Amino acid sequence: MMEIIKDVVCPFCGTLCDDIECYVEGNHIIGTKNACRIGYSKFTHREGSTRHTGPLMRENKKDDFKKVDWDTAIEKAAEILVNAKKPLIYGFSATECHAHVYGIELAEKVKGVVSNTAEVCHGPSVWALQDVGYPICTLGEVKNRADVVIYWGCNPMHAHPRHMSRYGVFSRGFFRERGRNDRTLIVVDPRKTDTAKLADVHLQVEPHKDYELISAMRAALKGFELKGEKIAGIPVETIYEAIDVLKNAQFGNLFFGMGVTQSGSKHRNIDNAIELIIDLNAHTKFTLIPMRGHYNVNGFNQVCTWISGYPLCVDYSSGSPIFNPGDTSVTDLLMRREADAMLNLASDPGAHFPQKAVERMVEIPLIVMEPHQTPTTELANIILPPAIAGVECGGTAYRMDGVPIALKKVIDPPEDVMSDKEILKRMMDKVKELL
Ligand code: SF4
Repeated sequence: MMEIIKDVVCPFCGTLCDDIECYVEGNHIIGTKNACRIGYSKFTHREGSTRHTGPLMRENKKDDFKKVDWDTAIEKAAEILVNAKKPLIYGFSATECHAHVYGIELAEKVKGVVSNTAEVCHGPSVWALQDVGYPICTLGEVKNRADVVIYWGCNPMHAHPRHMSRYGVFSRGFFRERGRNDRTLIVVDPRKTDTAKLADVHLQVEPHKDYELISAMRAALKGFELKGEKIAGIPVETIYEAIDVLKNAQFGNLFFGMGVTQSGSKHRNIDNAIELIIDLNAHTKFTLIPMRGHYNVNGFNQVCTWISGYPLCVDYSSGSPIFNPGDTSVTDLLMRREADAMLNLASDPGAHFPQKAVERMVEIPLIVMEPHQTPTTELANIILPPAIAGVECGGTAYRMDGVPIALKKVIDPPEDVMSDKEILKRMMDKVKELL
C-alpha cells in the first residue's frame, strides 16, 4: 500500500525546500510532490544507476574491487589515515551536521586537514565577508519584504529551480501581496540565461568584468560622473538607471553565485559587492545572500567554525587549527602534491576538481564514503557506502541563509548500511586504538 510522507526536506540544493511529499511503496520512493526535477531525481532511484550496499576494497587501483566486511574496511581506512603525514578529510556538503562533527574531530586526531566543497564554490565569499562584513537576511525576509531582487552571476532556473517561486520573485509575501508584480527583478549575467529572460532589467556584463561594473555602480551611487559610453559592456546610462532602481527600493536583496565567486577577481568581486550593499544602506535597506550550492555546504562551515574557529581549510598538523586558504586548502595541497592520503565523503571531487588535483588523488590512498558509483569512486582504494542523509537517515542541515532545518528519514537504508556519522564514529574508535 502506498504511504504519503509529508513535510520532507529536499537534500539537494541550498534552497532546502521543506514542503516535499514523498510517495512510498515497499520501502521505495516512487514519486514526489512539490520537488523540482533535480529534487525528484535525488529521491527516486534511477534505472541502471549503481548503488553500493557494502564496503569494497582493492590494494592496487588498477585491480577490481573485492567485497569486504565493515570491520576490515574501517580498520584499513583508519590505518591509512594514521600512517599518513598529511591526510586530507574533504567533502561534507551533502551530509548532515553530526557527520561533520565526527569528520572534523577525526581530522584533529590524525593531524590532518579538513575542508568542504566551499573551496571550489563560495569559499571566496567567505574570504570576502571576513574582510568587510556580512549584511545578510533570511529568505523569509526577502519573500515578505523585498521589492527589488538582484540575481548576480547565478542561474536559479537551472541550479536552484524553486528559489524564485518560494522566496525570491514570484512568492506572495506579507508586504508583497501581489508577488511578482510587486518586485523588480534585475539579473546580471554575460549570457541570456533562462533566469535573465524573466528579468525586468538584464545587465549583460562582459565576462570577468563584474568588478568594474560594481565599482562603476558604487561610483554612480556616490555621485561621481562615469566616463566613456560603456563600462564592462553596459551603457553608462543603464548603470545610472539601475542605481536609481536600487536606491529607490524599500527593501532590496542581492543573490550572487559562481559567476562572481569563480570568475576573475574572485573574492575581490564579493568584497566589492558587499561594500556596494553597505553603501546602499545609506539610502535604503539592502541585504545579500550567497546562493549556496549543496543543501548542507553552509552547515559544514557553521559546524567547523564552532569546533575549530575557522569555517573550512583547517590544518591540524601542528596540533592547533591553522586557517590559510591557498596554503591549507585541499585543492592546493593536492596540486602541490603535499597530501599523501585522502578521505572523501559526500562530494565528488573526481568529477569537479582541477585536473592536477585529480592526478594527485590517483597517486595516493583514497577512501571514499559514497553510496553511488561516481568518478571519485573510480579512483578509490576503499569504498564505504553510507545511508543517504535526508532520505534514509535524519540529521540537521543549514539553508543558504543560515537557517537550520531538520532532515527527515523517509525510507530505511539497505541492510547493514550505516549513516555517515556512524561510519566516521567507528573509524574514529579504530584510529584511537591505533594511535
Ligand atoms: S529547489 Fe533545490 S531544494 Fe528545492 S526541490 Fe529543487 S533541488 Fe530540492
